[in-house]
Amino acid sequence: MNDLMQKIVSLAKRRGFIFPSSEIYGGFSSCYDYGPLGVELKNNIKRAWWQNMVWSRADVVGLDSSILMSPKIWEASGHLSAGFADELVECKACHKRFRKDHVETPTCPECGGEFTAPKKFNLMMKTYAGVTEDESNLAYLRAETAQGIYVNFKNIVDTMRVKIPFGVAQIGKAFRNEITPGNFIFRTREFEQMEMQFFINPQPDKKGKTVKQWFEYWKKERMKWYKGHGINARNLQFRKHKKDELAHYAKAAEDIEYNYPFSSGGGSASGGGWGELEGIHDRGDWDLSNHAKHSGEDLTYFDEGANKKYIPNIIETSAGADRSTLVFLLDAYQEEEVKGEKRVVLKFHPKIAPIKIAVLPLVKNKPKLVKFARRVYEDLIDTFPVMYDEVGSIGRRYRRQDEIGTPYALTIDFESLEKYTVTLRDRDSMKQTRHKVAELQDLLQDKLGG
Ligand code: ATP
Repeated sequence: MNDLMQKIVSLAKRRGFIFPSSEIYGGFSSCYDYGPLGVELKNNIKRAWWQNMVWSRADVVGLDSSILMSPKIWEASGHLSAGFADELVECKACHKRFRKDHVETPTCPECGGEFTAPKKFNLMMKTYAGVTEDESNLAYLRAETAQGIYVNFKNIVDTMRVKIPFGVAQIGKAFRNEITPGNFIFRTREFEQMEMQFFINPQPDKKGKTVKQWFEYWKKERMKWYKGHGINARNLQFRKHKKDELAHYAKAAEDIEYNYPFSSGGGSASGGGWGELEGIHDRGDWDLSNHAKHSGEDLTYFDEGANKKYIPNIIETSAGADRSTLVFLLDAYQEEEVKGEKRVVLKFHPKIAPIKIAVLPLVKNKPKLVKFARRVYEDLIDTFPVMYDEVGSIGRRYRRQDEIGTPYALTIDFESLEKYTVTLRDRDSMKQTRHKVAELQDLLQDKLGG
C-alpha cells in the first residue's frame, strides 16, 4: 500500500475514524466500521450533500426507499441480465481473480501466469426474504439507490405537485459483489451512495434547455460542490466515458475523478491515480420505459407547459459517500514541520470537520480553571460538536486536535479567570487571539459558517 494510504488507514484506526469490520474475529474482507469520529465525518459529508442538493433547491425533493425491493425491479432495470456484470479472469497458475477491465497486461500481473477465458460475473447480492430459502423468496440487496427513486416516480408526481424539471435525491446503502474490492473504503461490497435523479423533458424545454445542457449543468454543480467543500481543484478532473465503456442504461457518462495515491484500475486514460469519485449519467428514458413495460403502469408524465405526454429523460448524479469520505481524508492530510517537530493535520473544511471546537483548560490540576472550562464547554455543546480535553500538555492536546481536523481550540488560562476571556487557536495558521466569553457564540457561528 502506498505510503500516504498507509498513513491514512493507520490514522483512521488510531483516532477512531474507521475500523476494520469484525476485527476481534480476524476481520471480514473489505468491510469497515465507522468509529465515533468517522460517523461524524461521514454524516457531515452526507448532510452537506443533502443541504446542497435538497434543502437549498426548490426543484429537488428527498426520498428514503427500502433496500429490499421486488426482484422484478432488477429484471426490468437490466441488473439481472448480462448488463450488470463484470468480466472476470482467473490466473491459471496462482488462481488470483481480476476484473478484466482492470488488468492492463495480457498475463497475470502477480505471477505472469496465463489467464482463463473471461467469464461474466453478476454483481447483484442475493438473499432470501421469507422463511424458506427457495427461488420464490429470492431477493436482492439493491445495487444502486436509483431504482428506488424510479419506482416511486409516480408516487412523487402524484403527491408532491412537482413539475418537470425536478429531481429526487436519496442517500442509502448499496451492495455489489465486487470481484476485486480494495484500497480501504474506495471499493467495498457494502457502501453508501448519494444519488440524485433529475427528470427532464427529452425535447428542449420551454426555456430551450436541452438534455445535453442539463447534463453540463449538473456536471458543473457537482464539481463546484467538491471544490466548495475544500477539495483541491488540482486533484479533480472530468473524464468522459467512451462509447464501449458506457453502462447498459447510459446514453452518456462522465466521471468526476480524483487523483488517488493508488491506481484504482479502470480509471482515467490519463493514468496515475486518477479514478472515479462520482458518475454523472444521461440515462435517457431507459429506466422509466422499462419499468412501465414490466409493471404495466403508465409512467408517462403530462407536461402542461408543453401540452404533451412523454417519458421523462433522466440525468443522474451518483456519488459514493464512503469514497467521498476517503477523498476528504486524503485531501485534508498534511504534514508540516513546526519548531523542528512533525505536525500532522487534517485540514478539513469546517463544515466537514467531525469536531468543530475543542475546549482545553491550560492545566487540569487547578479546579477554578477546570470549572471555568467546563462551563464554556457546556455553553457551546448545544450548538456545536465540541470536545473537552484536559489530558496531557497543552501542546500535545493541540496536536491531537490537529490530527482529527478540529478547526478551533479554546484555551482557558489564568487570564481567563480575571478577564472572562479565552484564547482561540486557529488550526491552520496556529495563530491565537483572545476573545470575551460572552462573544464566543456569535464569533464561532461566524467562523464555522452558521
Ligand atoms: P467503479 O468503476 O469504480 O466500480 P462504477 O462506475 O461501477 O464504479 P457507479 O455505478 O457509477 O460506479 O456508482 C456511482 C458511485 O458509487 C461511484 O462513483 C462510487 O463513488 C460509488 N461506488 C460504486 N461502487 C462502489 C464500491 N464498490 N465501493 C464504494 N463505492 C462505490
